[in-house]
Amino acid sequence: MNDKPLFVIKRNLQKSAQTGVTFQDQLEDENLKDICQKITGRSDYNCQYVENDYSDVFLANTYNKGRLATLRYGGYVHFITFSELAVEGRNSSIQSVPTAFNIFYMCPYEKKKLYYYFICKHGNPATDYHLFIYRLMQTVGFTFLNFPISSATTSFVTIEDMMRARDENRGTNRSNNSTYISKNEDGKYEAYCKTYGASKYESSLICYAMSMIIGHAEKIKLYEILEGNLNELPDSSLQVLRKMDTVDIIKTDLTFEKRIFEESRDNQLRSPRYQYNLLNKLGEKHCALCGCTIPDIIQGAHIWPVASIKAAKSISIDDKVRYATDGDNGLWLCENHHKLFDRNIIAIMSDGSVKYNHSLSASYIPYLHTFTENTQLPSMYLNDKFKHYVELRNRVLDAASFVRFKLHS
Ligand SMILES: [Zn+2]
Repeated sequence: MNDKPLFVIKRNLQKSAQTGVTFQDQLEDENLKDICQKITGRSDYNCQYVENDYSDVFLANTYNKGRLATLRYGGYVHFITFSELAVEGRNSSIQSVPTAFNIFYMCPYEKKKLYYYFICKHGNPATDYHLFIYRLMQTVGFTFLNFPISSATTSFVTIEDMMRARDENRGTNRSNNSTYISKNEDGKYEAYCKTYGASKYESSLICYAMSMIIGHAEKIKLYEILEGNLNELPDSSLQVLRKMDTVDIIKTDLTFEKRIFEESRDNQLRSPRYQYNLLNKLGEKHCALCGCTIPDIIQGAHIWPVASIKAAKSISIDDKVRYATDGDNGLWLCENHHKLFDRNIIAIMSDGSVKYNHSLSASYIPYLHTFTENTQLPSMYLNDKFKHYVELRNRVLDAASFVRFKLHS
């Protein structure tokens, strides 16, 4: 095959008509030459910029969604998506990525490949957040043709890897995440996704990466945390997820949460919104009292118990659901500590100190000491709402019968 490599590229971006800036303006011949060399080993190419109404099996009859170029050569089509010229907010830099992936993934042509190319001249494309996103992109099949830092990142091999990286990422950018990855007590992986605004791009990418890792071994539970406007993930993302066939999508809105609340028994509330709010406040599942991080045995423990909320007089059902799903009304506990807490063998005070009931037989107390590593909750737990829930819970306790743990030295 002696035909020259051929770029076919949509000239216009979504806003080209308003801004006057076309995609063609952003790409330099040097970029195309470099890409062509890297993909085909040749540096001579033809390039065809086409208008919005052009369409073929690779390009739809619309503006350039996903900042894509296509390069056709040797029977293959290569989809190349590009960074912005200026990488500024963490969201603007990734929003074209799921779109590009959607177009690539849904393209029926089999001999296809997917790449990413940096053309940014301003901003910082190598923050911890961006590096996390690049790892997700590699996991779903993007090959980076160039990289903004000297050493490239690698794809995620397990969902646990993703969970850990996500949580580390969170440390530097607290409560700025919109999507959480977790594992439930049945050992199933879960994603909790906000679906509005820029969150939908990140949510889509995280779900794709989880799907790629897990394959068809089992299904992931994807909880869409719907807010007032009830927007789901974009249709194009849902189409991809349906084709992947690896996720169960569960829409959770207030009606859904009310039903879970009303049907809950034994003080257990399997509420996605509660899980989401705890992940949002406290990070990845870890027992607040012993530090255990095995997600399968970590539970969201209510401070003001669900049974008491249910029994409370003159509170509307909407408010009850709000209290029962409030991230301040809880903490992560392992199953052991959860039971000890629910049976009031261990109690938490409004200053965050952890105490045990000294009416307990003395022979049990050394054991409690051994595995209760943390006897003072850190300040991040202790806001006014948290303290209020503790007071509601502890009203029924005899405070005098609780004593502090010896501090670990
Ligand atoms: Zn524990």
